[in-house]
Amino acid sequence: MSPFSKAFEFTELESRWTRFWLERGYFKANPTSSAARFSMVLPPPNVTGSLHMGHPLGVALQDVIVRRKRMQAHDTLWLPGIDHAGIATQNVVERKLAEEGQDRWSLGREAFLDRIWALKEESGNTIVTQLKDLGGSFDWSRMRFTLEPQLTKAVIKAFVDLHREGIVYRGEHIVNSCPRCRTAVSEPEIRYREVEGKVYTVSFALAGSNRHVRASLTRPETLLGACALAVNPEDERYRGLAGKKVILPLVGRTLPIVSDAAVDQHSGTGVAVVCPAHDLTDFDIARRHGLTPIAVLDSSGVMNEQTGRLAGLDRFRARKEIVVYLRSSRALEASRPDRQLLGYCDRCDALIEPILSTQWFVRSEPLVGPAIDALEREEVRFDPEAWAATCIESLRAADDWCISRQSWWGHPIPAWYCRRAGEEHVTVSPGTVTECAQCHGTALERDDDVLDTWFSASLWSFAALGWPDRTVDLERYYPTDLLVTGPDILVPWVSRTLMMGLLFTSEVPFRRVLITPLVKDERGQKMSKSRGTGVNPLSALERYGTDAVRFALAESAVPGADVTVGSRDLARSQRLAARLWNGARFVATCGDASLESRLVRSRAVGEPLDSLELAHRWVLSRSSRVAAEVGSAIEQLRVDRAGEALRVFLEELLDYLEIVRLLTRGNSDPMTQGVVRGAFDRGLRLLHPFMPFITEEIWQSLSLGGDSISVAAFPEAVPEWDDSGAEAGMSTLRSVVDVVRGARSEYNVDATRRIDDELHHDCALDLLDERLLRVPRPGLAHDAGG
Ligand SMILES: [Zn+2]
Ligand SMILES: [Zn+2]
Repeated sequence: MSPFSKAFEFTELESRWTRFWLERGYFKANPTSSAARFSMVLPPPNVTGSLHMGHPLGVALQDVIVRRKRMQAHDTLWLPGIDHAGIATQNVVERKLAEEGQDRWSLGREAFLDRIWALKEESGNTIVTQLKDLGGSFDWSRMRFTLEPQLTKAVIKAFVDLHREGIVYRGEHIVNSCPRCRTAVSEPEIRYREVEGKVYTVSFALAGSNRHVRASLTRPETLLGACALAVNPEDERYRGLAGKKVILPLVGRTLPIVSDAAVDQHSGTGVAVVCPAHDLTDFDIARRHGLTPIAVLDSSGVMNEQTGRLAGLDRFRARKEIVVYLRSSRALEASRPDRQLLGYCDRCDALIEPILSTQWFVRSEPLVGPAIDALEREEVRFDPEAWAATCIESLRAADDWCISRQSWWGHPIPAWYCRRAGEEHVTVSPGTVTECAQCHGTALERDDDVLDTWFSASLWSFAALGWPDRTVDLERYYPTDLLVTGPDILVPWVSRTLMMGLLFTSEVPFRRVLITPLVKDERGQKMSKSRGTGVNPLSALERYGTDAVRFALAESAVPGADVTVGSRDLARSQRLAARLWNGARFVATCGDASLESRLVRSRAVGEPLDSLELAHRWVLSRSSRVAAEVGSAIEQLRVDRAGEALRVFLEELLDYLEIVRLLTRGNSDPMTQGVVRGAFDRGLRLLHPFMPFITEEIWQSLSLGGDSISVAAFPEAVPEWDDSGAEAGMSTLRSVVDVVRGARSEYNVDATRRIDDELHHDCALDLLDERLLRVPRPGLAHDAGG
């Protein structure tokens, strides 16, 4: 019984072919191969739960590219991995603990980490299963995790080397902190939104006079940390004010007035209250004027011991108390509503607090220059091209990067402290330290912070290949040929990987970067897992089939636009897969002669063609042209265009099969069989990178070639098939197919049913007679014979 006598059942064949490919080792890289190589390292998904809709897009695009290279006989490496994702993962577990009425401090560090490892096992398995379900042709034998010993070795080596070169340093700086998570957070972990706040005008008495200076502030709780008032030197209203002193209300402390160009004269009264421990601009002003910052909030957003009777109050309560006091002492001149852009923690939605703290930093200045040079010399090419400029801009604007996090899930910082007589000695070492490097004291404390998850991520492109060891894989597959990633991690990841790659390997880490569009849900919102708006891709896979989901995603990935894949796109791709299946059923009945080029030799000009021969020449010409189109589009990383060209061709190919079916009525000659099988085989091989499962199933069932379509040759153009005359002449014949379609709908025939059911065949021919009398009707001889 032909396998095509069954309806198309994608679930069963997907798992069957995944098993087959992995057992045969088709996706395993072979560093000793003499073939050209093609390598990619997957941006590791976070181990926070499962994949979201953005991942299938990235996987589909990367897989189309790598599968085609494999079919072009390249030695391919697509290395998979998973990111431990620091704070993001920690928060998933903290949320669960909160539901149980606990927190990480009550549980203790060790037990808490055990809980995270358990989550890692579960989520890691889910992610691997999902990546396999998506048909990703990964080399699973080289799978990596960012918190495994090999990566820890790379992280420690990088930290210690950078510290020795003075690029990693410990210092006091304003960092964005989440008072709920009690840790520093980086820019991509902050979401900004406009909220209704207030701006307060506070009156400061000018020392030694009865005049007052009115200054504006938005966060009264930081007022006790004020170190100065500041005015812009260009501001005519305040000429002569700098150098004078004012009295800070509430406590009576004297503050200097300084003049600094960073003050925005159009904001509020134009006089700023400088609170350097709680604002980045103020911190910079204080540094320029030699002012010592005074911290009033601790890392959990609570007023500290410096604040007298306010100590212990939460920042929001403290604000109210201070406003009440300012009002009662008549120091508050006014308060009015004000739209403010504030940052919130992406993980827990708490208001971010800029806080002065001692942290570890990576100095940007020595790293950005080489990265910018490499981009300007086009050693890395971006698609779309405009992202190169964005990357350069972000590098130029890069501040020092705070890499320490006051959390527990991550790479420990390899630093030990010796604290005696008010001094702090720091020893940084790759191994355990038992003696202070400066004073040889032995009372040491290990730094209990961990590194920002982006620190290990910035080493991933080469550490995943074995760095710092000089492994065979590193020699062969680095720099990688392509990185495919979303625009949201260009700054925290792509540009930092570029800097670290150049520093540690003296090479750019990747030669091309494809920035994918963002996947939005049907309401146009960016999908996000931690906000609970993620869509489980498995639901779409189960409903429409992986092939259909992949094709719809690939086709929709137009550079520079947002991707919204709705049920209509998915259903359209599913219909294409079903039509292909029905086409295969026809090909299976058509005989098994193979395609021989002598059968399609050009005819002498002027000799009339019969319709069938015209159709053969047309489909071969189109199959040649589309191979060139698809190949060059993928080479240019325009997978969307390749998908579009392929869809058009497949529709034509399926029309061609209907034409053959109509005209031969089941009695095809060897030439027809050869062209049908040859053209169909080319269609399948072109489609394989997009729809790997159905193409393998059909290709094997029809015995179209060797062991697996996944290592069959990717079709190239065949110039001798090019036949523009046949392409032009086909328009009439293709309208036959439209007539058949019309017949199907007039007689209300299910589109998945076969055309050669006598009923619609006859209906179609009746309509043909009525409407297309001038179309030649060859094949009568077959009729007579059959
Ligand atoms: Zn938070
Ligand atoms: Zn010491």
